[in-house]
Amino acid sequence: MVRRIGIILGLSFCVSLFHGLTNGIPDSFTTGVNRATLSDSVDYLLHLSSVNMDRYPEHAFTNASVASQICSKNGWDEKKALACKFMGEAKLELEDYYQAEKYLSDALSYFTEETPKILGDIYYLLAKTEYYLAEYQEANLHYRSAIDLFQKTNNHRKIANAYQNIGLIYHELDDLENATLYYKKSLAINEVIENDTNTAGLYQNLGIIYYNNDDFETALDYYEKSVHIYRELADTQNIATTFSNIGLIQLKQMNYEEAYDNFKRSYELFLQTNFRLGQMWALHNMGSARLWQRKFDQAEEYYNKSLEQARELHIPEGILSNLDALTELNAQLGKFEEAYYYQQDYTHMRDSIKALESKEKIAELETLYQLQAQEEKLNESLTTIKRHKTQRIGLIVILIIITVAAFLIYLAYRKKKNAEVAIYSRKLDLENVLVEKDKELELQKMELQIAEESDKLKSAFLANMSHELRTPMNAIIAFSNFLREPDLPETKKEEYLDHITSAGESLLRLIDDIIDIAKLESKQLKISIGPVNISRMLRELKKLFAKLKIKNDYPANLVLSVDPYHDYIVNTDVLRLKQILSNLIENAFKYTQRGVIEFGVENTTEGLLFFVRDTGIGIAKEKQEKIFDRFSQLESELNRRYGGTGLGLAISRNLTELLGGKIWVESEPGKGSTFFIRIPANDFRMVEIAYDPANAAKLIKGNEYNWKEKTILVAEDEELNFKVLNSCLSKTRAKILRAADGESAVNICKKHKIDLVLMDIQMPIMDGYEATLRIKAINKNIPIIAQTSFAMSNEKEKCLEAGCDDYISKPLDLERLLSIIDRLIHQKSPNA
Ligand code: ADP
Repeated sequence: MVRRIGIILGLSFCVSLFHGLTNGIPDSFTTGVNRATLSDSVDYLLHLSSVNMDRYPEHAFTNASVASQICSKNGWDEKKALACKFMGEAKLELEDYYQAEKYLSDALSYFTEETPKILGDIYYLLAKTEYYLAEYQEANLHYRSAIDLFQKTNNHRKIANAYQNIGLIYHELDDLENATLYYKKSLAINEVIENDTNTAGLYQNLGIIYYNNDDFETALDYYEKSVHIYRELADTQNIATTFSNIGLIQLKQMNYEEAYDNFKRSYELFLQTNFRLGQMWALHNMGSARLWQRKFDQAEEYYNKSLEQARELHIPEGILSNLDALTELNAQLGKFEEAYYYQQDYTHMRDSIKALESKEKIAELETLYQLQAQEEKLNESLTTIKRHKTQRIGLIVILIIITVAAFLIYLAYRKKKNAEVAIYSRKLDLENVLVEKDKELELQKMELQIAEESDKLKSAFLANMSHELRTPMNAIIAFSNFLREPDLPETKKEEYLDHITSAGESLLRLIDDIIDIAKLESKQLKISIGPVNISRMLRELKKLFAKLKIKNDYPANLVLSVDPYHDYIVNTDVLRLKQILSNLIENAFKYTQRGVIEFGVENTTEGLLFFVRDTGIGIAKEKQEKIFDRFSQLESELNRRYGGTGLGLAISRNLTELLGGKIWVESEPGKGSTFFIRIPANDFRMVEIAYDPANAAKLIKGNEYNWKEKTILVAEDEELNFKVLNSCLSKTRAKILRAADGESAVNICKKHKIDLVLMDIQMPIMDGYEATLRIKAINKNIPIIAQTSFAMSNEKEKCLEAGCDDYISKPLDLERLLSIIDRLIHQKSPNA
């Protein structure tokens, strides 16, 4: 956008520039007319030249040229110098600046400060010529000389013009501070002498400067003042220009509608004055305003009209600006192909302009050269030395031309290369945009897929839910009907009532799940935090599931692994924590057909880590994240057998997060899964508890295990320890043998069929390591569990090295011990 505004400014500046300079034209030359003598004829010719100057500068030049020739013949130097001044002025009007500079310099060399009026005029005209030749420093100096001389003759109007033109030089050089200073100097004089046209032009120029400095308020103020004067002067064209300039400010202030209105007004006024250049720019600006408003159709229409006019008028800058704008418009509309073609047009156009400019420069230099050559011919007759000298100059000029031409060609080549690079990078940009669009599309596709998947899940859930509701309902209705039968035996009645109660319970659980998930999803479920004795809670869970296992005939054994010496007390929501663990244990039972389910808690640095480990069917890696989504169920036999809605893990995850924790699973298909829950240990406390192994042994429900056919050897020298073990193990109906030292343990293994050895390490006569080595030498298949103490850290490794299958720390966690024995006793067959 910046580029476009910059180009539009060019218009305002040109018009203003035009102002400054037209008003700088000096007074007409007024000399007395007398045709009586040749000298009078010269005077008359000079008068004619002056009169013709504005409208017919070619005639003015001819008049002055004839006068000059007469003067040359007659040696009238002063009049010849005056004729030169007119010839220079005419050439300036005809925009032949090199010639103008030459004639004016000739004229200047003749006059002195004794004729300040003429000398001032010549300086002024010379300065103006130099301005056009971009010789700004010389122009500035000559305007100042002119001002000094005009001051002598009190010519305020010309002083004001010279100030204004110095302002223009600074403006051109972007020295806005000095430009403002000189415009204001000029303005002060013009206001006093009531030169309205110039005053309005200066307001315009000041407006442009303030606009460039982003001081829009002041700029608007100046523009409005200038419009006011132009209205009084009925200067339609300048009114139109000013409207355009006001529009540009509004564009910057983002008042697009007002900007558009002003550009439109400007366009209509330019239509009245038939000023096509103005119309072309106004159309372009209208397009820009509409583009900002994202009214793409209108913007495109205006840009195209403007482009057409620019082409008709051969205004390269206009063509370039419109092509550039159309590139951007199409890019914004996502029409990248069109954008690309406009960009190509733009680049071709710019390259050909550059080429043309180089050609013009060369032509200009050629003209210079020809001029020089002509002069050379004229002076040839003077002296041969002079001719040689001129020829040498000619040669040097040719060399310069060649060098400059080569340099220009090189520049053009560089520009072309740069343009190619720009096109390439533009292409890359466009390609990037396309890639971005592709990505967006991909994302949309994925979202659609997710939505479809979620739909499928919901349908599966509804089907499942209907099944889950109907099954217990059917049971309730059927068994209630059976109860009606007369003469039903009491035992049957009991059985039917049990079925009805259990169906009712599973219905209730289902409804609880649905309500929980609904509350969790609408963030309405509140938790209630309080101190919880974690160890106690886990023991309660163990009791509850031990009952359920028997009731539901679950095949796997359940083991609780908890620190027997400490109670963990933590601030959390006990009911919700229980609910999560229950879900996990229930799933573990559901998906485990043999082996052990172990659950418990560990105290880690990051908080309490709960785990529920099973030896069940396991979960494939790619499904492990999915199972926590609601309604997601991995199709399996057990699923169908035990039912389920796919809500349990979703609820567990939501609840864990509500408690500030995290849930995840580690699993291997066919081997089993471990679900972990880590909750932050808020106000965590560990309370030491008195541990009575004998009492613990009594509490142990050894009758959960049935090892009727098995013989266990307990190698233990301590009497009390053996009693504890004996009372615990005997509940499993296993046969217990005892060895009081390592050596007798080895001997017993030699004589009896032993299914498992419980090996104490520190024993008299022969220690546990040695005994293990020997027993394994006799029969490597006898499972041996070492009883280690925490005292020595390398004990465990040593036990395993000696051949022990597992180990358990003393004092013993009897429940864990039973589960280890159960695993080994079934895994290994000592008699194999
Ligand atoms: P469901 O009511 O179906 O059990 P859940 O949300 O509790 O729903 O579990 C989702 C799915 O995760 C189950 O259908 C099952 O496929 C899988 N899953 C959960 N726990 C286990 C586990 N311990 N072992 C194997 N698969 C499991």
